[in-house]
Amino acid sequence: TCGICVEKCPFDAIEIINLPQELQDDPVHRYGENAFSLYGLPAPQEGQVTGILGPNGIGKTTAVRILEGELQPNLGRDEAVDWDDVLEAYRGTELQDYIADVRDGEVTVARKPQYVDQIPESFDGNTRELLERTDERDALDSLVERLEIGPVMDQAIDDLSGGELQRVALAATLARDTDFYFLDEVTPYLDIGQRVTAARLIRELAEEEDRSMLVVEHDLAILDLLADTLHVAYGEPGAYGVITSPKSVRNGINEYLSGYLDNENMRIRQDPIEFEEHAPRTATHGDVLVDYPDLTKSYGDGEFTLEIEGGEIHRNEVLGIVGPNGIGKSTFAKLLTGNLEPTAGDADLDLDISYKPQYVTIDQHMRVDAFLSSITDQFGSSYWNTEIAQPLQLERIMEQNLSDLSGGERQRVAIAACLSDSADLYLLDEPSAHLDVEQRVQATSAIRRYAEQQDATVMVIDHDIYTIDLLADRLMVFEGEPAMHGRASEPQPMREGMNDFLSNLEITFRRDERTSRPRINKPESQLDREQKREGEYYYSP
Ligand code: ADP
Ligand code: ADP
Repeated sequence: TCGICVEKCPFDAIEIINLPQELQDDPVHRYGENAFSLYGLPAPQEGQVTGILGPNGIGKTTAVRILEGELQPNLGRDEAVDWDDVLEAYRGTELQDYIADVRDGEVTVARKPQYVDQIPESFDGNTRELLERTDERDALDSLVERLEIGPVMDQAIDDLSGGELQRVALAATLARDTDFYFLDEVTPYLDIGQRVTAARLIRELAEEEDRSMLVVEHDLAILDLLADTLHVAYGEPGAYGVITSPKSVRNGINEYLSGYLDNENMRIRQDPIEFEEHAPRTATHGDVLVDYPDLTKSYGDGEFTLEIEGGEIHRNEVLGIVGPNGIGKSTFAKLLTGNLEPTAGDADLDLDISYKPQYVTIDQHMRVDAFLSSITDQFGSSYWNTEIAQPLQLERIMEQNLSDLSGGERQRVAIAACLSDSADLYLLDEPSAHLDVEQRVQATSAIRRYAEQQDATVMVIDHDIYTIDLLADRLMVFEGEPAMHGRASEPQPMREGMNDFLSNLEITFRRDERTSRPRINKPESQLDREQKREGEYYYSP
């Protein structure tokens, strides 16, 4: 027993430190004896965006299948249960009316899947054909324009990049005419500008057309912008999950970051996640790992040209790389790895680089442990277990086949593989994609600690501003016209870099009064105008 339940713990083999109040009630659904149980349901509301924040494997999909009417919940009981029983159990709660509609078969649902990379497997045809099938609201033209899908309308779905697929999937979902929209992660592979556009489109559909939107999202800056109310989800992946009553978005995110849920009186993490209000002072003049000259790279007849301002990368630093999609970040990476020859300049850098690409394609028929032990002879050592396997939560998936992994699991294996290789420079392209918030935080600290302890130099390309903030010592900013021409600045201190980057996007951040967490300002609000005038887009001066 865990000391709280007097009788045998219902969650065998799980260490429950303090049994939350919710677990003393009946679950909404239990898949079977000793199988996963879900406690609590999110409450979609007409005209509102409801967010869910929490790790994967905690029952979010189960909850949505119930809200869609696809899964008849059993209220944890052995005897047969029908929707009238469920309605009875939720009488007097926010969900009463909603569940009555589900019982009467009156709820229609559109759903954007989490892993857009799998869409080509189930659809043969081009973008236009896919979108025309779903255009029930006659909204396609405007969605295509705002999500900048025009250039790929006649391309086969098979040939789209992850970022293009994400925008097409979002347009396809929002074009449907339903009461309830469920969006399982909207940001992977999108740049910040595209993330903000996606958030605005979702909000508009809720506000202007009175629809119910339910969104699972792990980019906290975007979730903050997107949602009206927030349910935090917590528990033991695979064993039980609890979805809290709705909180204000601000309190929900703040409590989540602090590691303690106030109303629930529940600690979900030992240490708080904290942000620096002022720009960190740059640890200047570490040893120079590489000093690279001005470089130019053009593709074809100059359809796309990238100009890189020469600079220094310091030994031991984490260099953040930011900029829109299609601006040349991967091209720069390939120049550094020697996979591409520059059009002008000498990039013969003679560096060993370990590279994790944006789209992780490891899917051989091989077990995770066999794959990782083929990369490093440190595999299984106590150092490797503590620094790599634990923070990346690899223990549980070691015996699985690479080809059976989910997107988030594959990402964690790829980060581990990249860091385990011995190299001068570690280059990670969008490590946050498909990681839940908790995994982002853990992966972030694993990468930082690795850089410090191994004297390693790390470059990280990412669009999640909190990930970049928690990771980077300095920033390299890419700007220009995507797919036309790009310019890359030399590495800059965080404050200058963030100001450069965010002024291109015209986005300013204020600080949450209680936690100093950065929050996106409303465009044209007083703070937004003031900060733009002063040129302070991110850090407090
Ligand atoms: P999330 O969407 O938060 O990642 P899910 O709702 O998909 O979580 O799954 C929660 C847990 O329920 C997982 O451990 C999963 O293995 C388990 N589960 C999901 N579907 C079933 C099922 N049909 N039978 C038994 N267990 C299931
Ligand atoms: P990012 O990593 O910032 O998204 P990329 O470096 O991948 O940008 O691409 C920049 C531009 O160069 C894009 O317009 C892309 O289509 C184009 N591009 C990339 N690789 C090639 C190539 N091998 N041949 C021609 N064009 C390319």
